[in-house]
Amino acid sequence: MDCPKCYLPKDDSAWQCDGCGYEFSQDFEGVRSSLRAQLKTRRTVFWLTVLVNLGMVGGIVFLAMYGLIYISVPLLLAVIGSTGHAAHRISVVREHLRSLDRRHVPLPKATAHLGPGAGLPGPGHEA
Ligand SMILES: [Zn+2]
Repeated sequence: MDCPKCYLPKDDSAWQCDGCGYEFSQDFEGVRSSLRAQLKTRRTVFWLTVLVNLGMVGGIVFLAMYGLIYISVPLLLAVIGSTGHAAHRISVVREHLRSLDRRHVPLPKATAHLGPGAGLPGPGHEA
């Protein structure tokens, strides 16, 4: 889990060391698709967290309204904290994906249109 070069602890979604820039994997397409998959999973986790937390907050407020419990501030803070954590994880993965795209441009899906004469007007057509 640490960088083999500078021994800085590495994030599980990082493809490059924050400290020394060492690239953990040369399989950038593989890294990219695994980051995309992680992003998808984390989005799902985030929305599930939001749903569960909304339910919890609703339940707490409901019970408090009927005087059954007191609103627990530490519990509410934990709820807000877990939502913020899930959102933070998304932004971390997204940033890793973005920096990968900046450094290693995704492979083009089709190269057929890159043939000679594509798009550019040729000479000799002027009247
Ligand atoms: Zn390093």
